[in-house]
Amino acid sequence: MIKGSCACGGIRFEIDEVLALTHCHCSICRKLSGAAFASYAHVAKSKFRFVSGEDLITRYESTPGSLRGFCRVCGSSAPGQAAYLPTVSIAAGLLDDDPVVRPMLHVFASSKAPWWEITDNLPQHEKWVPGYEPKK
Ligand SMILES: [Zn+2]
Ligand SMILES: [Zn+2]
Repeated sequence: MIKGSCACGGIRFEIDEVLALTHCHCSICRKLSGAAFASYAHVAKSKFRFVSGEDLITRYESTPGSLRGFCRVCGSSAPGQAAYLPTVSIAAGLLDDDPVVRPMLHVFASSKAPWWEITDNLPQHEKWVPGYEPKK
């Protein structure tokens, strides 16, 4: 089992299995994480559960229909589910244990920070991974 928590420890959760780790370079993820890019663990809904602190999550609508959760005590990102994904997305920095899998790809490489060079050989997608974009 893989455990995760926010910086203040109010939000705690458990994961049975991480399906994938991805890096997102979109401008919203860069602003919300405050970093060059944001890394996410993707987990099937049935393999994820909150242990505590679900009531501490406040949501910000970054684009219409896209809600970004964060802890209202410490400001950490909180696990959330995009309407267009079948999985829970978890900012990988929240993980307290090794997720076992390693990063597999970059998304929104076309909007990466100009001061950051992608130097690994992982696949780069201009925007979403084809087939995983928001559906109207
Ligand atoms: Zn917190
Ligand atoms: Zn993003």
